[in-house]
Amino acid sequence: MVARALKSRRHPILAHIIPIRRCNLACAYCNEYDKVSSPVPTREMVRRIDLLDALGTEIITFSGGEPLLHPDLDDLIRRIRSHGRIATLITNGYLLTPDRIRQLNRAGLEHLQISIDNVNPDDVSKKSLKVLDQKLKWLEEHAQFAISINSVVGAGVKDSRDALIITRRALELGFDTTVGVIHDHGGQLQPLPEADRAVYEQIQNERKPGFWAFSYDNLFQKNLMAGKPNDWQCRAGSRYLYICEDGLVHYCSQQRGYPAIPLEKYTFEDLDREYWTKKPCAPYCTVSCVHRVEMIDMVRVDPRTALKKFFPPGAQGEAPNLPVGIKILSSLFLPPETDRPQSGVTKAVAGAVMRVLGIK
Ligand code: SF4
Ligand code: SF4
Repeated sequence: MVARALKSRRHPILAHIIPIRRCNLACAYCNEYDKVSSPVPTREMVRRIDLLDALGTEIITFSGGEPLLHPDLDDLIRRIRSHGRIATLITNGYLLTPDRIRQLNRAGLEHLQISIDNVNPDDVSKKSLKVLDQKLKWLEEHAQFAISINSVVGAGVKDSRDALIITRRALELGFDTTVGVIHDHGGQLQPLPEADRAVYEQIQNERKPGFWAFSYDNLFQKNLMAGKPNDWQCRAGSRYLYICEDGLVHYCSQQRGYPAIPLEKYTFEDLDREYWTKKPCAPYCTVSCVHRVEMIDMVRVDPRTALKKFFPPGAQGEAPNLPVGIKILSSLFLPPETDRPQSGVTKAVAGAVMRVLGIK
């Protein structure tokens, strides 16, 4: 997938699609649900999935509302897989049982994300470790798909140290972890108090080391937590699409209404235009999946500069602070910084690996 995404920019990398706006919870900070909507008819969902495939969308993620409330979700997952695309799901986890997890295995789900907001339920959120821990154990036991647990710090979280407890539990169960910052209703961030930032640092230190996690932290998250803007190009409407329950393409869940074009009328010209459209909400945006999509394009356009931004020098004048694995990859894949040509051996190895990855 990354290889195809790196090769061309004329297709979406990721689309979030809403099969139902209704949710079985009512988190106080959320503006993405209601209590009354019916599921989008299955035939219409299939049509939308086929349209996303025709645009070349690599990953199709069901979001909500609560997608597990859709009665034919497994058929929709199968439809995505039949196109050779990646099928993923964001859920609050409440409806998971051993049987339901095994059904998702059989449907071909490839990744599931649960966001857990606190250790004990409160009046802001019931997405709580105490309630969900049994679901996590069932996932560990039965799931054949990858699992990621997202914890949060920021406005509305009573005690940010909960995020550390949730991360540790997820790591103990062998799951991947992410930590997000709760945004306001416009997808924007309020600066975090020092205590919350310290918790975030501690979580970063304890998480599994990973290229995208650390680079994302360097590039976006640290600035946001300090209340500083990010200088980046949001590619929403092009490399990332949000398809609402009415079948309209929006930039993201926080910017519904733009451009709000029906999916069946969305063209490659729309993708081209939105790739360059400046979004005024970008500097303080906290929509991390769109940040990550942009990171792929930064690597595609100028890998050496991207790596330097992802892993900045520790102090002025020092070499970029790259993890060892990245140093090896960059010496293999990146053009030489000076006029000194790459050695023949390096070129040959890089060429072979690139062919295996399908990049050339
Ligand atoms: S579970 Fe998710 S969709 Fe439902 S109210 Fe909470 S944040 Fe919103
Ligand atoms: S910058 Fe992009 S992803 Fe972030 S809120 Fe604005 S449109 Fe959405």
